[in-house]
Amino acid sequence: MVARKLSAVERRHIDQFWQRKEAWQKRPRVDNAELHAGSPMWYYCKGCGKLLAQLPETHVEYPPQHCDGCQYLIDHALMPPPDDTAPEGLRNHGKTAGKT
Ligand SMILES: [Zn+2]
Repeated sequence: MVARKLSAVERRHIDQFWQRKEAWQKRPRVDNAELHAGSPMWYYCKGCGKLLAQLPETHVEYPPQHCDGCQYLIDHALMPPPDDTAPEGLRNHGKTAGKT
């Protein structure tokens, strides 16, 4: 990874990321695996841990993966996209193979 100069906006997003992450780490997290059958599923940002959605267990839409702030970091190559956490078939979706 090559270090590059960050813009003021990028720096602000990074600062906000750490604040978010710290704040959400203090909160209890719902582990979907421990819920009773039929319970809604809780989805957290894979970057900072912020709660993104609570969907019925039977939801069919692909759950959100990142909050807007973390998505910004990914879009600006400030955070690697966590491809390994995406279901098979969605990995590297829309991206060319290989990392720079
Ligand atoms: Zn996030």
